[in-house]
Amino acid sequence: MCIFCKIAKGELPSNKVLEDDEFMAFHDINPIAPVHILIIPKVHVENFQSASSELMAKMTPFIQRVAKELCLDQTGYRLIANNGKDGGQEVPHLHFHLLGGARLKWTHLAKDDTHKSL
Ligand code: 5GP
Ligand code: ZN
Repeated sequence: MCIFCKIAKGELPSNKVLEDDEFMAFHDINPIAPVHILIIPKVHVENFQSASSELMAKMTPFIQRVAKELCLDQTGYRLIANNGKDGGQEVPHLHFHLLGGARLKWTHLAKDDTHKSL
């Protein structure tokens, strides 16, 4: 079972923000912004690329609820889904990073690792 499945089942501890029957939001263990929340479906889905439109239709309002709960709907936020190897996905269970609480930087993220074919 993956690490986020264990968190979803309560077998591993997490600092929870919001939960319903299908989704969970909790603080990232290694935050990169003043507010850094991870939002997951409780069911194991590997990544965004394999997420169904039915799942996303339910997940979208849950994510919006989390943002509202933390007042990030007022100040703004960034929502990120790292997908696969190039996306830097480390945990193979669909999750969105909800980042906020500061004016976040935006920059070119690749240095010398551009694929040869590009
Ligand atoms: P990824 O790189 O897969 O998009 O992001 C995985 C995120 O999960 C990272 O930001 C990492 O800090 C976070 N993370 C990894 N293990 C745990 C954990 O056990 N608990 C929590 N709360 N976050 C975790
Ligand atoms: Zn999982």
